[in-house]
Amino acid sequence: MPKIRNRFLFGFVVGYHVLLLGLLPFALGVSSWAAWGLFLATYAIGGLSITVGYHRLYAHRAYQANPVLEWMVLLGSTLGFEMSALNWSHDHRLHHRKVDTDEDPYSIEKGFWYAHVGWLFQYERKFDASLVPDLLANPRVARQHRWFIPLTVAVNVGVFLVGWWLTGPLASFFFGFLLRMAMIHHCTWFINSLCHTFGSKTYARELSAVDNALLALVTFGEGYHNYHHAFASDYRNGVRWYHFDPSKWMIWLASRLGLARNLRQNNSLTIRKSLVRRDRKMLLHSLGEHTAPLARELAERLEHLAHRFDTDAASVREKLAELRQASASRRRHLRREVRQLHASLHRQWKEWLRLTRTIGTHYSLAHHH
Ligand SMILES: [Zn+2]
Ligand SMILES: [Zn+2]
Repeated sequence: MPKIRNRFLFGFVVGYHVLLLGLLPFALGVSSWAAWGLFLATYAIGGLSITVGYHRLYAHRAYQANPVLEWMVLLGSTLGFEMSALNWSHDHRLHHRKVDTDEDPYSIEKGFWYAHVGWLFQYERKFDASLVPDLLANPRVARQHRWFIPLTVAVNVGVFLVGWWLTGPLASFFFGFLLRMAMIHHCTWFINSLCHTFGSKTYARELSAVDNALLALVTFGEGYHNYHHAFASDYRNGVRWYHFDPSKWMIWLASRLGLARNLRQNNSLTIRKSLVRRDRKMLLHSLGEHTAPLARELAERLEHLAHRFDTDAASVREKLAELRQASASRRRHLRREVRQLHASLHRQWKEWLRLTRTIGTHYSLAHHH
């Protein structure tokens, strides 16, 4: 067994799991609708504060929030027991920057359980202020960091007392504290373990991060982790309308209520264009290692398709710019052209996916895991 550096954390995590299991039979005896309601409410507030606040707002600056929303997430996140926003974002920015390397704090390269929770017991944070200058300058984040333990105790004791009044002491402690904390912890940790292991890679094939729709269900939409690693500053993780991403909906709702603004998002043409560029480079590189005629033929098709996609995408942009100052009759004509280009780009995209998949299966990309 590896040496445990952070003994307090280790004791805390192991201890509350033991307590959780030990109390389970008694807790089931006092379970009620109110107890489960308490669990759900605290789980949702704590979980969403982490995803909407810590992750998308602070770690990735995917939008801007006003102080009211900031304090909501800075206090709500104390239900998650995941350290201060400053430290969390520090580690998470490092995770994105150094993903799959030795410097990635929760690198999946060091194993599934290490990425899930083991890293917490081993990790020595070498705090690098240059990773979080914006957060150090944010007085609310600084205050939450400084007062993190008293704030966490105060919020959780308060919630416990409200729960006691609603459901009694044992149910409040078990459902509103232990179970809620365990759920938030494991769901966050799943992002680092499962979402770097089981799922599909549409956006960044060179990374270990994957999209996993099932996990999105319990992580407030964070399961679309391949997309997220490819486009981390997008306020959405699930980009299709049918993707289950409550964090995205909450941020959108907050913007409607005037609590958030400057939501950053990539439109699909931008996303696809950068995907084509990225895939092209990577696949040509792996095809270059082969001399078989098929490899050369595939490389040619790849070049051809990538070039055409780029050209058509550029002319969509030109035509849209032209549209703004065109006369009415010319406008109608231009609109039709843009529509046709979009349709053609869509077909090219499908063809691109087929081609890259073919190349992927023929030349199982050796340097990828
Ligand atoms: Zn990740
Ligand atoms: Zn992230």
